[in-house]
Amino acid sequence: MVNWSFSSLAGLGATKSSQFWIWGMFEKVGVPGTTLEQFFKVLSWSLYWLWMGVWPETDVNGEPFPVGSHERHMAGRPLAEGWFACLWALIGDLEYLSSILSLPSHNNAKNCCALCKAGLTGSNTWSDFRPTAGWRAHQWTYESWRSWPGRSRNQLFTLPGVSALNVHLDWMHSKYLGIDQFTFGSCLALLTCTGMVPGSEQAALDTCWKFIQDFYREHKTKVRFGYLNRLSMFLRQSGCPKLRGKAAEIKHFVYPLLSLWELYMNSGLKLHRQIRLMLKANAHLEDLLTLYEQDVAFPPPVADDFEDTCCTMLCLHGQIASHFAEEGTDLFNLTGKAHMVQHISLLARCISPRQATGLALSAFPPPAAVGKVFFLV
Ligand SMILES: [Zn+2]
Repeated sequence: MVNWSFSSLAGLGATKSSQFWIWGMFEKVGVPGTTLEQFFKVLSWSLYWLWMGVWPETDVNGEPFPVGSHERHMAGRPLAEGWFACLWALIGDLEYLSSILSLPSHNNAKNCCALCKAGLTGSNTWSDFRPTAGWRAHQWTYESWRSWPGRSRNQLFTLPGVSALNVHLDWMHSKYLGIDQFTFGSCLALLTCTGMVPGSEQAALDTCWKFIQDFYREHKTKVRFGYLNRLSMFLRQSGCPKLRGKAAEIKHFVYPLLSLWELYMNSGLKLHRQIRLMLKANAHLEDLLTLYEQDVAFPPPVADDFEDTCCTMLCLHGQIASHFAEEGTDLFNLTGKAHMVQHISLLARCISPRQATGLALSAFPPPAAVGKVFFLV
């Protein structure tokens, strides 16, 4: 089921209390080419008049309201004493962006990103995380996206100032339920299956789990794994190890894992030091998110720190993944979600990665000039 909600970026407090649910649909029930299109037509109409800050002058089909009707009476009058709102960010997981908003799919070999012209390989490959990466020079501008024949034709993108640049990628799905699952699963596999922690694989896991539980207690960790005592929690029949768990459990897992790694790593090995540094960078990103959790956007110096740390973490991830790929071992799998995490870090100066789901609206007081939305692009 797909659900739509909106929230104000100026709102504070828990996600649950700031989200307003608009509509939901079982995808299989909708009539192809009709249901969703009709929904987006109505939503765009609502957002347009919110932007104008007045009661609608026409109905959703562009027709004037009947003479004598309440709608006709209100048409053109201020909605909220001159206040108006603009659509600031379109937020959702990667599947939503491609299947519902018709933006490029992250599975594409070419054009796999909504925000730039990155591809799987070549000079614009998404797997280049360095500040000099080719794709950085090919990020969309408002004008270039609007004149691109391959752009999404979703109604929302016909609103004044709205384009793919309003897409806000989702930190939870890209990081916790994306790259972190592979990173943490791979670290646990190295610790338990390669002799880093003494004993059989199961005995090594028991040792790790005891360490993690002690860490949780000592540091009063907010969200904890209830149990992590089976190898199947991260080892799979085939493919790269992947830690199972809920997003919040994974988010808080980096701290005990970093301590565990530092205890059993071999400091003489460059690879082990690289993994330690990658986990440290990961933990620093989470520290910043916690520290600035009430901010709509990070202050500039914090945003710079967040972007640099993210760049360090992903570059190390790339080097570690290449090491194991050359060795023929399936560890530290790198997926396109790493690129999404990098975009989120680049945008942290405009919108905090904590903004999780829905349509985010910003309200402006009466004196704000029409055209302010263009600051977005
Ligand atoms: Zn991109």
